[in-house]
Amino acid sequence: MIPTNENAVTDERFRVVDLHTHPTLKSYMFKTRFWKAHKPPSGFIPLSMCVDLDSLIDGGVKTFVCAAYVVEREMFSDIWPLGLLARVHPRAAHLATAPLDVLTREYLDAAEAMVDETRRRRGDVIELARSRADMERINASGKLCMLHAVEGAHHLNGDIGMVDELYARGVCYMIVPHLYPNMAGGCADIMGADFRTRFAPGCFNPKYQDASGLSDWGHRLVEKLLDTGIIVDTTHGTREYRREVIAIARNHPKKRPVIMSHVCVPAVSELRPDPLPDDIREIADTGGVVGLMMFFRPELAGRATAGVESALDAMDHLVRHGGEDVVAMGSDLDGFTTVPKDLRSPRGYRKLREAMLKKYTDKQVEKFLHGNAERVLREGWGK
Ligand SMILES: [Zn+2]
Repeated sequence: MIPTNENAVTDERFRVVDLHTHPTLKSYMFKTRFWKAHKPPSGFIPLSMCVDLDSLIDGGVKTFVCAAYVVEREMFSDIWPLGLLARVHPRAAHLATAPLDVLTREYLDAAEAMVDETRRRRGDVIELARSRADMERINASGKLCMLHAVEGAHHLNGDIGMVDELYARGVCYMIVPHLYPNMAGGCADIMGADFRTRFAPGCFNPKYQDASGLSDWGHRLVEKLLDTGIIVDTTHGTREYRREVIAIARNHPKKRPVIMSHVCVPAVSELRPDPLPDDIREIADTGGVVGLMMFFRPELAGRATAGVESALDAMDHLVRHGGEDVVAMGSDLDGFTTVPKDLRSPRGYRKLREAMLKKYTDKQVEKFLHGNAERVLREGWGK
């Protein structure tokens, strides 16, 4: 792209790669429109859309990962209102009963249809990249670039062979654990007892949880992902899980980076999926990154700059424990998260960038916003 003015030069220099967003979760389930501009409120408003074409462009995002997430089967038993919905609503019933690999393909189709529809309505402004070469071409053209990722090994429906299909389709990373144990192993209990009693009575029963590490099948899956060139993401795993994945990656001949695409730091507790200082160091040692979520921290409630402040604190924490090559962005926007006022959509990246430029060197800001993520995509994605 040939920059036409100073802003465009700044935008290109400090472009954003967001490693984790979920716009298709909303467009697939609730028929929201990615090609239309939204004004999302802050807080937890599950039906509002944060990530759309305009908010990404306004925020200076050049590449964003759209993570596929098909609801785990356990959720329909564990969250009783969902179970009820599946009994009366045909679409919910389909999500609760169709084979998971079939739903995974449907979801990726929906993500691609979202891009196609946007191109029909708004012109040649966005493209899906199915490979690193695609991504480089789209980035150079100045268009917005979308990448596929998959959140949870349950999407494979027990078939490791499906990894080849996902790779051919353009999936750049796979999060192996997620909200419920799957064939690859256990997971961190993201809700915790306090959340259950305060916000979701009768839901998220601990009986569905299992904090064990990687299974034999999970071990084979991680090897297969590393061989194939889909980046392994350990977000949602326990500490033991993360260590097992990192050990496999370390001993693998291809020396791939391991990532955590969307977490909160400093970790609130050892039980949550957030990385502890040692984890941050070990991920950095593989050449990987830790993506920061734009997640609301309750202790910062009511403060207009709560999101930017806590994001800067988190960056300091990551630099302290993993160095400046480990920091990346992974907002998790539209992933049913609670968002702060000043970072309620990708537009918030502008404010965040301004604050970062006051605190860090230009070189560091480049690394945090896109350089480290682009390095990981170069080293981890592709044969
Ligand atoms: Zn997640």
